[in-house]
Amino acid sequence: MAAAETDREVPSALCSEFLQFSAKDTAAKWLQANDLPKEVYQHLARYVPKIYCLGPNLNPQSEDLLAQLLLQAPLEWYLCGEEPSTGLAKLEQNNQPSQLCGHVFKVGEPTYSCRECAADPTCVLCMQCFLGSVHKEHRYRMTTSGGGGFCDCGDTEAWKKGPYCQKHEPNISDSLQEDPLANLSADMIARTYNIFSIILKYAVDMLTWDKEDELPQGLEPPERGDTYYCMLFNDEVHTYEQVIYTLQKAVNCTQKEAVSFATTVDRDGRKSVRFGDFQFCEQAKSVIVRNTSRQTKPLRVQVMHSSVVAHQCFALKALAWLGHIIRYSDALRRILCQVGLQKGPEGENSSLVDTLMLCDSKMWKGARNVYHQLFMSSLLMDLKYKKLFAIQFAKNYERLQSDYVKDDHDREFSITDLSVQMFTVPSLARMLITEENLMTTIIRTFVDHLRHRDLQGRFQFERYTAQQAFKFRRVQSLIGDLKYVLISCPTEWTDKLREKFLEGLDGFLELLKCMQGMDPVVRQVGQHIEMEPEWEAAFTLQMKLTHIISMMQEWCASDERVLIEAYKKCLTALTHCHSGFTDGEQPITLSMCGHSVDTIRYCVSQEKVSIHLPVSRLLAGLHVLLSKTEVAYRFPEQLPLSELSPPMLIEHPLRCLVLCAQVHAGMWRRNGFSLVNQIYYYHNVKCRVEMFDKDLMMLQAGASMMDPNHFLMIVLSRFELFHIFSSADCRKRYNRENANKDVVQQNSTLIEEMLHLIMMVVGERFASGIGQVENSDELKREIVHQLCIRPMAHSELVKALPENENKETGMERVIDSVASFKKPGVTGRGLYELRPECAKQFNLYFYHYSRADQSKAEEAQRKLKRQNGEDSALPPPALPPFCPLFASLVNILQCDVLLGMLGAVLQWAVEPSGGHWSESMLQRVLHLIGMALLEEQQQLESSCEDNEVTFNFTLKISRPGEAPSNTPSVLALLETLQNAPHLEVHKDIIRWILKMVVNIKTMRERTAAAPSPEGSGHCQEETVRDKDKAERKRKAEMARLRREKIMAQMSEMQRHFINENKELFQQSLEELDASTSTSQDHSPSSWDSALVCVGPRRWRAGGGERRQVVTCILCQEEQEIRSDGRAMVLAAFVQRSTVMSKNRRRPPHNPESYDPLFMHPDLSFGTHTGSCGHIMHSHCWQRYFEAVQAKEQRRQQRLRVHTSYDVENGEFLCPLCECLSNTVIPLLPLAKTSCSSEQPGLSQWLNTTSQQIKTLHAAHRKAKSATAGETQTLEDSPPPEGFRLDHTPVNPYSSSIKEMLTTFGTATYKVGLKVHPNEQDPRVPIMCWGSCAYTIQSIERLLVDEEKPLFGSLPCRQDDCLSSLARFGSACWTVSCLSTVQTHFIRLLAALVPNPQVENSPCLLDVDMFHLLVSLVLSYSAVHCLDSSGLSVDAAQLHFFHLVTVAHLVQILLTSVPVELTMDQESGGVEREEEEGVCLFYNILKTHLGSSLPEMSSGWHLWRCVKASILPYLRGAALFFHHLNGVPTPPELHALGAGEWEALCTYLCLPSNLLQLYYNYQDVLKPLVKGWCSHPGMRQCLQSPETLISFPRESNKLIELPEDYSALINQASSFTCPKSGGDKSRAPTLCLVCGTMLCSQSYCCQTELEGEDVGACTAHTFACGAGVGLFLRVRESQVLLLAGKTKGCFYAPPYLDDYGETDQGLRRGNPLHLCRERYRKIQKLWRQHSITEEIGHAQEANQTLVGIDWQHL
Ligand SMILES: [Zn+2]
Ligand SMILES: [Zn+2]
Ligand SMILES: [Zn+2]
Ligand SMILES: [Zn+2]
Ligand SMILES: [Zn+2]
Ligand SMILES: [Zn+2]
Ligand SMILES: [Zn+2]
Repeated sequence: MAAAETDREVPSALCSEFLQFSAKDTAAKWLQANDLPKEVYQHLARYVPKIYCLGPNLNPQSEDLLAQLLLQAPLEWYLCGEEPSTGLAKLEQNNQPSQLCGHVFKVGEPTYSCRECAADPTCVLCMQCFLGSVHKEHRYRMTTSGGGGFCDCGDTEAWKKGPYCQKHEPNISDSLQEDPLANLSADMIARTYNIFSIILKYAVDMLTWDKEDELPQGLEPPERGDTYYCMLFNDEVHTYEQVIYTLQKAVNCTQKEAVSFATTVDRDGRKSVRFGDFQFCEQAKSVIVRNTSRQTKPLRVQVMHSSVVAHQCFALKALAWLGHIIRYSDALRRILCQVGLQKGPEGENSSLVDTLMLCDSKMWKGARNVYHQLFMSSLLMDLKYKKLFAIQFAKNYERLQSDYVKDDHDREFSITDLSVQMFTVPSLARMLITEENLMTTIIRTFVDHLRHRDLQGRFQFERYTAQQAFKFRRVQSLIGDLKYVLISCPTEWTDKLREKFLEGLDGFLELLKCMQGMDPVVRQVGQHIEMEPEWEAAFTLQMKLTHIISMMQEWCASDERVLIEAYKKCLTALTHCHSGFTDGEQPITLSMCGHSVDTIRYCVSQEKVSIHLPVSRLLAGLHVLLSKTEVAYRFPEQLPLSELSPPMLIEHPLRCLVLCAQVHAGMWRRNGFSLVNQIYYYHNVKCRVEMFDKDLMMLQAGASMMDPNHFLMIVLSRFELFHIFSSADCRKRYNRENANKDVVQQNSTLIEEMLHLIMMVVGERFASGIGQVENSDELKREIVHQLCIRPMAHSELVKALPENENKETGMERVIDSVASFKKPGVTGRGLYELRPECAKQFNLYFYHYSRADQSKAEEAQRKLKRQNGEDSALPPPALPPFCPLFASLVNILQCDVLLGMLGAVLQWAVEPSGGHWSESMLQRVLHLIGMALLEEQQQLESSCEDNEVTFNFTLKISRPGEAPSNTPSVLALLETLQNAPHLEVHKDIIRWILKMVVNIKTMRERTAAAPSPEGSGHCQEETVRDKDKAERKRKAEMARLRREKIMAQMSEMQRHFINENKELFQQSLEELDASTSTSQDHSPSSWDSALVCVGPRRWRAGGGERRQVVTCILCQEEQEIRSDGRAMVLAAFVQRSTVMSKNRRRPPHNPESYDPLFMHPDLSFGTHTGSCGHIMHSHCWQRYFEAVQAKEQRRQQRLRVHTSYDVENGEFLCPLCECLSNTVIPLLPLAKTSCSSEQPGLSQWLNTTSQQIKTLHAAHRKAKSATAGETQTLEDSPPPEGFRLDHTPVNPYSSSIKEMLTTFGTATYKVGLKVHPNEQDPRVPIMCWGSCAYTIQSIERLLVDEEKPLFGSLPCRQDDCLSSLARFGSACWTVSCLSTVQTHFIRLLAALVPNPQVENSPCLLDVDMFHLLVSLVLSYSAVHCLDSSGLSVDAAQLHFFHLVTVAHLVQILLTSVPVELTMDQESGGVEREEEEGVCLFYNILKTHLGSSLPEMSSGWHLWRCVKASILPYLRGAALFFHHLNGVPTPPELHALGAGEWEALCTYLCLPSNLLQLYYNYQDVLKPLVKGWCSHPGMRQCLQSPETLISFPRESNKLIELPEDYSALINQASSFTCPKSGGDKSRAPTLCLVCGTMLCSQSYCCQTELEGEDVGACTAHTFACGAGVGLFLRVRESQVLLLAGKTKGCFYAPPYLDDYGETDQGLRRGNPLHLCRERYRKIQKLWRQHSITEEIGHAQEANQTLVGIDWQHL
């Protein structure tokens, strides 16, 4: 191939050129040049193609190096006029840097905003600036950056306070802003200008170049070969998988290469996938296009000449170079800005910057990124040019947005994304509005893109195609821009600003007009609608605009003239919308209670009605502002008040509210879910501020200008209830004649809804402008009512309140004023509880309650009142007075129409059989009466003496009803109802009402006579005192209730041991467990003076063996544990573990060849066995497991869902507690041993044993050679007395127990070694002993870490598990090959007692002594069973124990003695004897090993070191022998504290001076110790300190986490993917076990594990945690638990905000701090090997977790 040849030639050619090249000379030549651009272009044309893009395998380093030497160096020489390094240093020195930080954020980097001082939420600081700023003491918000954007430190407009951090604080000297160019020589300026113009122009030309085979003039290469690239471009249409698949086909690459191509294309926007001659590339292109054209459009591919690609590469480098150079000097930066913004030859908008912007959507991602970065570091960092750039940006705005809408790249890759950097600067925004009419431009552009309208010109989203929907999504970013522009409300207005803002408002009203009445609905009768109409688009628009509408109102409110003009414009717009409002409608006249009004005939249930009324709602908002700012009173003449037609104003909002009522009443069921959803959003917290709330305001505005009777009649008419209340005998007749139950039900609901509406119109006065309230009162009331439902967490509360993302609402302060905070425990979250004194503000008919909220709140509040010993009435709360503009609304409460309605409902209630009234109807009527009475009382209280209170509700309700005449008065009806038996629930409120009436009458009389204010004051005082008393009583009562509840819970838990609500109760359960375990322990009734657990003197159960009876959880039958009985088993879970590993770098063993007989003291891999403690018959369990298997098989056939457990691997859930298990342990009785006579001492016993071993050895060899057919005569050593090789031991176990022994042994072997099950494998018993030892060691560690005593604190399930494990260990030889176990024993013993027939015994330092002890003891039975001489097992156990203990002493002294001793030596200690003994012993060792051991003279230190180091071993041994031999434990070991040592030594039959062990048996031990020390491996071990394990082994901890979460985010943001050179990782994930940061959930870091591709986390768990892992996903603030390849779950992180809540997903952005308690809880989960179990429980609780591909994380 031709291409390959050129490949090899060019570099050598270049080499010679390179040697001759001088940057200095080239620059000198340029200085002389007449036509500099031409010269430079010639240079570039010559060198660029020789450096860049020379073949398929590019070498970026050498490209960069050559580019630096041949291309950039001459530029720099020319620029500086001298050696660049000197010149640039000078520039830097003279530079006076600007105060802006301008740090550009990387993806995932933390950003901070101050909630108190930021001008708007887009103002952010980088971490460095934040830490050096005043805001770190304020309430701040932390988020992770999506990339792009920069630090606003130093921008005085961005911060209300503290705009500079310490680093960017301006000096006084350079505070006067001088021209940066002043410091530069004219020469330098000219040169800079020249070279910048050429290079920038070159880069712009190249990046916007669209020809594939040609170059711009002057750049044509001197020689051009047939070398091309096949360039693949990114799009957002095709998926990764499609691209990878296509590439494999098209360019014949491996999957790995294809993945790498696809990754680069996604990141950089393009990538050459093939290099070669034109044909070769064309061919690849056609394959790609053909393969991807089946989707919407094919992938974009270009075949480009290599020189074009080369120049484009360098163009990017050149831009980066410019960005780099201007960092040296603000002056250079300014020149670059000047060059960039200079008008080109084509005039307006033709500068290089314009050219780039206008080509933005045509460039590939990588190019866009580079030039955006340059813009940010140049134009946006220079205050003068930022303004000029902003103007150009605004001029091009429409074009840029249109390009963006058509482009398919995300917004972060579009130039339009820079808008936030300019529009949020208030001065720039204001300037752009006035100079460039930006507001109007944005709105017009937006409206232009939404062209789909109906006949009335309203938006129509119904028939949107997918493409239009896509476009609709993209144009929404324009709303974002509008929001930026409006974000800060002006403090000063100019006439120009007024003019332009109002012009913008005109545009905005045009937009709203297109929305007024859109998506209308008509009630469906008869049939259900056929298709749910589209409604979401309209609501999306509404939601997006909500904040804009609110901000528009804010702007209007800040200037009276603007407000008045806006009001007029809005009214005109509304009038325009309503033109034709009464067309064709017949006016009708309504009459009732002596009043009549004209209105139109309109039925919501029959005609079109729309929920979208933004114009009306904006007017309502402005109306309230008029009232609030009092413009209405000061300039009434300027207002078009006379043009207002109140009936017109209320008409549409009323229809909308009636629609909601009718939907509630079930009248619109046939209209389907789309309507239900719309109604839901209408009231939802996201929309209601500019929907429901404003409709209500409009009703209030309209009603305040109308006769209340007229208003109510119109309301009745729209509710279609007028006929009911207007009929003359409505009190009698209602519903009697109506037989249709549905209609009756509907009407009842409608009446309820209407009464509620009246309450709201009169009672909702908490918006400032309607009532006389502070701004915070509205918020306070919302919070009070949320907390009346129940105590809430901070985030819940925030979610329930309308968000105001633009402004700090000071919400926290308000919350604190009405609620008290209750801290969270180890689980759960902090909660806010309503302060008791705020409960009186509770309004049952609060307008933002949903029906569910209302009933919950009612229940909670009634309960509260009962607890306080009060009556259960929930009367309306006192209300603030109305503002004057709305004052007349109170008259609704006493108008004739309302009284008529109230009387009617009461009358229906008096005659319960008479009509179909409802209780909630009555409840509302009573509430309304209460409101009226409160109003009257308040007016009376606040009235001056001479002012008569005109509001006289008490008088009116005392009058008899009018129609029909002589009906009872409202008051009389109430008195009747008071005693009605069917109204028990309402009695309290009626009593309250009647008392109020009496009170008011008294007040009226008193004011009429002589006012005595003291009287009422006294009365208040008394009630205060009463209240205090009641409060105390309530608290006492609550405490009692709480106690009772806890007691009840406890007994409940004792009865059922069920793991529901496990997390909540776990702690108490464990405590409970512990207490039961101690009480039912095999404790003797009286304490033996010396309990000993091992050796011939050990404690034995007196008077016959105790029987142990257990109950099977499956069949509930009782069963005694006997060797010959039916087997009973414990559900168990065996897992591999590295929890105690001291060497995580040790590579995993080869499972086939690994010999596990000796555990290394680094404990790098162990096998842990745990159990939930639930006992079953083995046959019951087998039947259960078979059923699970069968069920699983059926399920897999039916649907391919996984379960949380892997049946094929033997996993199942405990049938009782659903704990994950994978095998069962048989329960065995204690071995029977008899206390025999005199036992031999150590040396004699050792003798006997070695003889036995010798005999066995010979026998084994004989057997081996016999099978091999050899006939070799071997000298038989005579067996010791009583040792009979031909003896066949009796297997004491029943067949079912034997079967279970095999089951558990095989399971431990299979899991522990990760091999296929093989019950014949000689390693089976070894694995069982190992698991027993490892489990005991891990439990011993856990007890130390939890600071619990050795005995008595374990839950009984763990006790049971340990006993079973130990006894199983001593029995498992019975199901193995006897000679195998004997061989194991022989090899084990040989590690301590040299045996010439055993080769390769390990060095003492390579053996974990506890494992050795356990294995020796448990394997000995296989030898002992042949002995009938009367040697006791107990004696053997004790000898093993003493031997291993001495070996461990040696091990400790050799490895764990500190080299340097700085501590003061304590002299004259009580343990003088021990200290001397240990010194002596140490010196013996030293004589054996010489200089390998440090000099030690302090016995005190040595002894302390030995004691501390050997303690874990002794504690483990105590646990082991206790469980093996069933010996009760001494009380000293049930408590923490001193005396543990002595108690342990006694219990273990050890002298408390351990050295005596050695001195007592010196004759035997001396040669042994010498032998150990002279083991060939010894010196090598001692000389490699990195692998040497010293004692005591510290417990492993999870890694330290920083206190402040942002430190982690920062750490993660600088973490790069280890595989794809320098890329940011998308999901950085921290291993909590070893602290490694991983690139999770990403293609780049997938590796192959056991033939499957797995993610970085899964791969890591196999190396670090034997398959189990514990991670923190840093971006998500979430703990990830993994086990194996298929199991995983998420877990709450140990980071909490100040409100005691976690922030999974980092959505809220509150500062997060480490909660040590929670972290400890996670650590405990890990240490006690419960991660897999936790995952199991999580997956059982949440089935969606099962479906996640955990192995890809
Ligand atoms: Zn900064
Ligand atoms: Zn700063
Ligand atoms: Zn601040
Ligand atoms: Zn059973
Ligand atoms: Zn269980
Ligand atoms: Zn990666
Ligand atoms: Zn790790």
